[in-house]
Amino acid sequence: MSGSGANSGARTRHCDVLVAGGGPAGCVAALSLARAGTRVVIVAPVASPGWRVGESLAPTARPLLERLGVLDRITADGHAPCHGNVAAWGEDALSAAGHPFGPYGEGWHLDRARFDATLLRAARDAGASLHTGRVRGVQREQGRWRIVTGDGSVLSAVHLVDATGRAARLVRRLGATPIRSDHLVAVAGLLGPPVTGTAELERTSLVESTHWGWWYTAPLPGGEQMVMAVTDADLLAGSRLLEPEAWRAQAQLTGHIRDRTARWEGPLQGLRVLAAGSTRAEPAAGPGWAAVGDAATATDPLAARGIVTALATGLVAARAVLADRAGETGALDDYARRIAAVHAEYLTVRAAQYRREQRWDTPFWRRRR
Ligand SMILES: Cc1cc2nc3c(=O)[nH]c(=O)nc-3n(C[C@H](O)[C@H](O)[C@H](O)COP(=O)(O)OP(=O)(O)OC[C@H]3O[C@@H](n4cnc5c(N)ncnc54)[C@H](O)[C@@H]3O)c2cc1C
Repeated sequence: MSGSGANSGARTRHCDVLVAGGGPAGCVAALSLARAGTRVVIVAPVASPGWRVGESLAPTARPLLERLGVLDRITADGHAPCHGNVAAWGEDALSAAGHPFGPYGEGWHLDRARFDATLLRAARDAGASLHTGRVRGVQREQGRWRIVTGDGSVLSAVHLVDATGRAARLVRRLGATPIRSDHLVAVAGLLGPPVTGTAELERTSLVESTHWGWWYTAPLPGGEQMVMAVTDADLLAGSRLLEPEAWRAQAQLTGHIRDRTARWEGPLQGLRVLAAGSTRAEPAAGPGWAAVGDAATATDPLAARGIVTALATGLVAARAVLADRAGETGALDDYARRIAAVHAEYLTVRAAQYRREQRWDTPFWRRRR
């Protein structure tokens, strides 16, 4: 990704802030900046059809969505409620792992594509414009960013926000280093909808540990069931989890995932491997730029906090960019320090979570002790 001169003839479009990526973090950053009167362009590809991982939204998202003025829109989208999380972790029995009676009420099992589309619409309604495509090249030129997209368009911005998700497509170009803590991957598939209807579905997500990692399952609003097997990338090779039949056979060896998925007799759809490790950008901001969401701090799906973090960092980074625009030197550095502190705190909590499982002396678990 470089700012090649190949497009020197293209007409340049100017804006105050360019946000690369149209996931929750990018949309919230763009929404907050546009509301403050900033000229914002979101560069994002057309969302691919089909299901997306990241569907459990914790109740702590509610106050954030309310502050952003989008809670009513999200509620109107009719996402299924999530009554909490249950886990067989450290022992065979299931126990409640979430906070169904916490101060913010229930969470959601999201229709993720719809959730992201609603946030994008809110950002556009607030005045952000959308350029469909991908950022391919970034270059600093006379105090501005020169950004080239996949279709050869050239944009110029004073500030740049990397909201490209876990891949953090821009941070290296901006002089930052992604710091990776592990090589976790999820082999995720979709079952359903069940032949017996959706009325009796368990509206909780379920985690179950096993000797090579852990399983996760949650219902989707349409009645489908999302199921994923989570392990380390190097352990995947010997596990045969990439073969649908072997993946299903492994699910049958569990104590609880097996019961949850028993009503879904149809084929497993779209088995795919997704990076799921913990990474942060060091630093997460610098002169004229900030990373948000997974591009700044990507967390283990076990923490189920990725979307809330995306919303929060989008909001906080927008404030830092606005402060920088107003001449407050140090605002972006403060934001970067905050991200580093939040990520460090997350790693401590994650380590304690993994230490609670002591039943197996296998590579996956030894690495986490
Ligand atoms: C297996 C798995 C399960 C998960 N489950 C949960 C869960 O249950 N609950 C939860 O809260 N979180 C979960 N997460 C995490 C959650 O999905 C992410 O934290 C969240 O999506 C981050 O939002 P984001 O906006 O930072 O990035 P993303 O949602 O990844 O959005 C990034 C966007 O940038 C775009 N993009 C990429 N490259 C470019 C480019 N060059 N130019 C322009 N645009 C680009 C992409 O197309 C995408 O639209 C899970 C993650 C994994 C891996």
